[in-house]
Amino acid sequence: MERQEWQGRVALVTGASRGIGRAIALRLAAAGIRVAVNYRGNREAAEATLAAISQAGGECLLHAADVSDFEAAQAMVSAVVDAWGRLDILVNNAGIARDMLLLRMRPEDWNAVLATNLTGVYACTRAVTKPMMKQRFGRIVTISSIAGILGNAGQANYAAAKAGVIGFSRSVARELASRNITANVVAPGLIATEMSQEMPQAAYQQLIQQIPLGRAGQPDEIAEAVWFLIQSGYITGQTIVVDGGLVMD
Ligand code: NAP
Repeated sequence: MERQEWQGRVALVTGASRGIGRAIALRLAAAGIRVAVNYRGNREAAEATLAAISQAGGECLLHAADVSDFEAAQAMVSAVVDAWGRLDILVNNAGIARDMLLLRMRPEDWNAVLATNLTGVYACTRAVTKPMMKQRFGRIVTISSIAGILGNAGQANYAAAKAGVIGFSRSVARELASRNITANVVAPGLIATEMSQEMPQAAYQQLIQQIPLGRAGQPDEIAEAVWFLIQSGYITGQTIVVDGGLVMD
């Protein structure tokens, strides 16, 4: 039933070469959705995602682009629509971190994180708006973080961008609802990926101890929340926190 309903739909997942983005791409492909896998530079990892999808019988294409580059984001969306004739789902997942205390944070650390994590979400969402409005169907899911809700010492740039995408998504949800396009957010807590492995081990272990469920989440646990929101035509402008109980507000 799930495969029949979604078979032939088209998704673009940004930052899908590894980590959470790869898990989302695999989850959507398992539902019969054709998936455009975006990445920035790591072609080897992106090809591994492609191979995993193909092995499971899914259809996918690779597209290298920096999401923060407005023209590149437009060209990427056009390439997907040219290849498959439509674009039903956008998952804004690409993200970076440049953690340091505000006292040491240079303008380039601020700008790099805001460019990818906030401007990139604007650029990709802006690019899909036209095809989705034309189709009168669209599902947009953006990956934020609990840092965007709670704030986090050492992550002023990251938290600002991740809070920004929540306000952005709510605005988009209101603007596009009349065209049957939903816009929602998933805010993960600590998830076991290469990004979180960059945290100092002591801080990682300390954080685990604060998580009521007592462990880091897995990328496929985020993918399930994304898939739930994609399937839910009557949920829009919402943020689902997937964090093992860390926030509970
Ligand atoms: P990751 O393992 O570091 O993977 C990041 C992905 O984003 C890679 O595919 C990377 O591609 C891509 N990317 C980075 N900058 C890009 C750009 N400018 N344009 C296009 N692609 C770009 O990260 P992750 O842990 O899976 O995180 C995925 C998302 O979840 C991020 O938005 C992150 O902020 C969020 N998140 C993660 C955690 C966590 O604990 N891991 C918690 C909360 C939120 P290349 O490899 O080719 O550069």
